Amino acid sequence: MHPRTLTTKRVLIVGFGSTGASVARFLQLHDVTFEVADECDQQTADTHTANLSCEFHTQFSADLFKTFDVLVLSPGVPRSLTSIKEAIAAGVDVIGDIELFAGVVEAPVIAVTGSNGKSTVVSWIAHTLQGAGINAIACGNIGLPALDSLGESADVYVLELSSYQLESTRSLKPLAAAVLNVSDDHLDRYDDIEHYAAVKRSLLKDAEYCVVNQDDPRTWPQDDESIEGVCEKFTLSTQSDQNSRWHRVIKNDQTWLCDENFAFLDQSELSVPGDHNAANALAVLALIEPLQVPFTALKKGLVGFAGLPHRSEYIGESKGVRWYNDSKGTNIDACSKAIQAMPGSVILIAGGISKGADFSALRQLVEQRVKLLILIGRDRAQIRNQLEGSTTIIMAEELRSAVEAAHQHAKDGDVVLLSPACSSFDMFRNFEDRGEQFAATVEEVLAA
Ligand code: ADP
Repeated sequence: MHPRTLTTKRVLIVGFGSTGASVARFLQLHDVTFEVADECDQQTADTHTANLSCEFHTQFSADLFKTFDVLVLSPGVPRSLTSIKEAIAAGVDVIGDIELFAGVVEAPVIAVTGSNGKSTVVSWIAHTLQGAGINAIACGNIGLPALDSLGESADVYVLELSSYQLESTRSLKPLAAAVLNVSDDHLDRYDDIEHYAAVKRSLLKDAEYCVVNQDDPRTWPQDDESIEGVCEKFTLSTQSDQNSRWHRVIKNDQTWLCDENFAFLDQSELSVPGDHNAANALAVLALIEPLQVPFTALKKGLVGFAGLPHRSEYIGESKGVRWYNDSKGTNIDACSKAIQAMPGSVILIAGGISKGADFSALRQLVEQRVKLLILIGRDRAQIRNQLEGSTTIIMAEELRSAVEAAHQHAKDGDVVLLSPACSSFDMFRNFEDRGEQFAATVEEVLAA
């Protein structure tokens, strides 16, 4: 939606975090008047009002929402709120920041969604394109709000999208778009996993070039979902698979990443661990395909990407025990991939807010790979009940006692992994805070 269509409308920004603030700046730039609603305290509201010189509402209600033509919803505000649903039923148009971005963006957009691996793939693409001399800007759910990135005059925008953002987007036309995977997450905000998957797949509808995961049928366009562009697949399979252009082969005992029949790169040359990162690398290759980046630059970008902090991040070794921070592992699939990526027998620190997930899905892997499970956080008793008998389980009140217990039990060759499979808000500000506190505590405990 182009902002000029909003100049005659009554517009309300709903939610005023970093995305809401970027929407306000964008609307001001385009001479669109607006009001803001955020359920914050009066003092915060007063500060915003002074800065924005617009009306600021501190309560959400259908009565308020229905007095506007358009609501610009922040990703943190669910469309399922009764007040929002009533507004939609009354004919109010509800969009998000990406819908506004889609209305004005001129450079090509590579868009990425999925349950896990989005930030990794987005950063990896940006890193690779920048290495090839292309001014690629990573934006969206990864941190830099998409509307703020417009000032950067990019050659290519690499856009990370959450399902929440997709729900309020209808006119984005990416050059390339991928649904990386779909696993149980955020089911507190969706009716079921099928609904959640359909929202993710809506990204593919208008993309020129779609990339989906052969190993995860929920990423594939369904019969009743028409897509405009070409659809290509990637797979971790090492069998020659006619369905997937990007796949792997085993040659001379090495596993190679392939583009059709061309063995591109020995997987062991990647700087990030695990098969999930091989899948991410294949997705990177697939998404970059329409830009025709020269082979040497592609290879350099793939090999040189060191990974992001808090994602299976190696933080150090002491007495033969390696310590890893996977604080961004906030759901069961991410945690399971991190465990599988670890090089030794695992002492796992997990727990937090479980978002209603069923941890018994981890049982088999825990039995095989986790010699000790240390549980922290609000839902630790529920997680223990679901994994009882799979391995030795210790409950810890604090992160520090969890790290101390891990240190005490770890033997030469073991790995200690923080991969909580939960969100962090019961004990920490966010996943970054959790990962940073973990790394600092590990340093202290090892030095003591
Ligand atoms: P997102 O942005 O989707 O949350 P990240 O790249 O930040 O994804 O990674 C989050 C977590 O998901 C990491 O901690 C890692 O353990 C796991 N992960 C990364 N890539 C994948 C993948 N392709 N499949 C499953 N899990 C993955």
